[in-house]
Amino acid sequence: MNAVLKCIDPGCGLEYPIDSTLVECERGHLLDVKYPGSPPESLKEVFRCRRDPGGSIFNESGVWRFRELLNFCSIDTEDAEQCAAHLVSLDGAEGRQSKPYRMGRVSKFTEMEPDSLWLQPEGYNPSGSFKDNGMATAVTHARMVSAGKIVCASTGNTSASAGMFAANEGIECDVYIPAGQIAPGKLSQAYQFGAQIIEVDGNFDDALRRSLDEARGSGGYTVNSINPFRIEGQKTIPYRALEQLDWEAPDWIVYPGGALGNTSSCGKALMELHEWGWIGKIPRIAVINAEGARTLSDLYNDRGLRWNGGKPDTGLIEDHYAEMDRTGAGPRTRATAIQIGRPANILKGLRALEYTDGVVTTVSDTEMLDGMSAVGLNGFDCEMASGATPAGIKKLVKEGVIKRDDTVVGILTGRQKDAMLPVEYHSDPSNMFARPPRAR
Ligand SMILES: *Cc1c(COP(=O)(O)O)cnc(C)c1O
Repeated sequence: MNAVLKCIDPGCGLEYPIDSTLVECERGHLLDVKYPGSPPESLKEVFRCRRDPGGSIFNESGVWRFRELLNFCSIDTEDAEQCAAHLVSLDGAEGRQSKPYRMGRVSKFTEMEPDSLWLQPEGYNPSGSFKDNGMATAVTHARMVSAGKIVCASTGNTSASAGMFAANEGIECDVYIPAGQIAPGKLSQAYQFGAQIIEVDGNFDDALRRSLDEARGSGGYTVNSINPFRIEGQKTIPYRALEQLDWEAPDWIVYPGGALGNTSSCGKALMELHEWGWIGKIPRIAVINAEGARTLSDLYNDRGLRWNGGKPDTGLIEDHYAEMDRTGAGPRTRATAIQIGRPANILKGLRALEYTDGVVTTVSDTEMLDGMSAVGLNGFDCEMASGATPAGIKKLVKEGVIKRDDTVVGILTGRQKDAMLPVEYHSDPSNMFARPPRAR
């Protein structure tokens, strides 16, 4: 027996086959979907088995199920209660939904072979960005050292993530933000989670300097990506990508570049996996800067700055920063998540680029918006900074740096938190993927 559509009016009770498209019965009553018989209660066990984390949220977590590979707590247990004594988790939600997907419209946009390109949306983390991967581990370490307060500077997503974990752990959280430069959806999360917002007159780099100074003075625990425990948690982003590819290393892993925490963590993950013999080949990392926030690209591509086996010419960096101060040429892009002039992890980033024979390039704001919109056409959401990933892949394919049939994993770093941006994009018919509204 099959399910049917049945009128909800007991005095009527008309039935229709399940492939009917009616929304009401012919007497105008609403319809229910009705199933024959009653399913056995034994199904409860079937459901549990289908999704078996063994009763432990630490197995559900996309971060902590790899806990042997980031075991700074030195634990050796499958027991959920013992894990909970050390590990911080938002009920297993961090990293749980994230894995690479094929997205045909993005393949087309980038002119890659459809089977070669994977995109991994990290926006489906509980606070809406990849930051949750590293925040789970950083706050774990904060708890290990009995920190009473966590502190961060943020372009938005760090504060959302820090605020969420702090609230869940019942610890204080101070957030330094560049006043007026945060997407509304990110700022509102920090308020919602009860974080103390400190508005700094200046850009992200100024906010970071202030937060580091004040954390030093007040004993606050810094959870920006200069914190090495953030980097540990973010190693799980490439772990999950590799797991989906049966630990067969892709040719490329592509990230937007801001403070370069992601670049650094990916590099460290790959170095370790290769050292352990888990992967034979080392994927190349591609970092995509915004044209208006291109410190890494300028230094790497134009000034020839390299890790140089651990002896980078840091004078080049100091000169560049001094030049930025002198000319007042601050970073400028609408992709606020990567509007960063002084990438705090630049040295670890250079190390990652050297180890993986990486490349750095830049994309314009328009290209990022097109990349963001191409992702949307596959039914996936991402923010403008994440659009740098498809836009950068497109550019590198065009230049012949990435081959059309190379295996590429692109990381989509966060979900849309600037609700009006797609409305604006689609309202302008001159945009590549625009579908303007129609009036009737
Ligand atoms: C933080 C952030 C970035 C930048 O990442 P880094 O690790 O700092 O380079 C990019 N995209 C989004 C959505 C972010 O929140």
